[in-house]
Amino acid sequence: MKAPQRGARMPVERPTPGRLRLDELVVVPFEGFPLQIAQALVAELAARGVAARVDAAVPLPDAAYVPARGQYQAESLLALVRGHGARHVLAITERDLFARDLNFVFGIASPAGACVVSTARLVAGADDALFRVRLVKEALHERGHTLGLRHCADPGCVMYFSNSLADTDRKGDAYCERCAERLRARRR
Ligand SMILES: [Zn+2]
Ligand SMILES: [Zn+2]
Repeated sequence: MKAPQRGARMPVERPTPGRLRLDELVVVPFEGFPLQIAQALVAELAARGVAARVDAAVPLPDAAYVPARGQYQAESLLALVRGHGARHVLAITERDLFARDLNFVFGIASPAGACVVSTARLVAGADDALFRVRLVKEALHERGHTLGLRHCADPGCVMYFSNSLADTDRKGDAYCERCAERLRARRR
């Protein structure tokens, strides 16, 4: 690398005011999660108007694994993710999750701004395109919870509760007008 000449004017990168996106969603892969899937998710989110970026991977805590179930406890992963410095965090894992009395969960969210999504069950019978849509639906759903949205009665809304993949496939990949209005009201 060439050393800069003395006296030469170096271009200075200044942060542009307003460039820091407070509502930016930081996608945090758990270790072993394929980076290209995380990047594809960021692209799908961006296409739906949600600014996001991929951050460094974090280790999967052994303590969250329950061997008898072959699953990870979603609450433990969420607790770990809540310690992340970013304001809005979506962690993703390929491992299967369960929570409380539920056999499995597609994801889990905390109103404090963090959520976790598992791709373990989204791959069933899916080609690449279907998998990507399922993943962005689950991501938008859990992000909605972190922003204060509850489950929506509209089966086409992304905030509709998915009890099965059929529910996920049936619902749309966007917030219904009522949910979208709640999100806008939050920002005001
Ligand atoms: Zn939900
Ligand atoms: Zn809705």
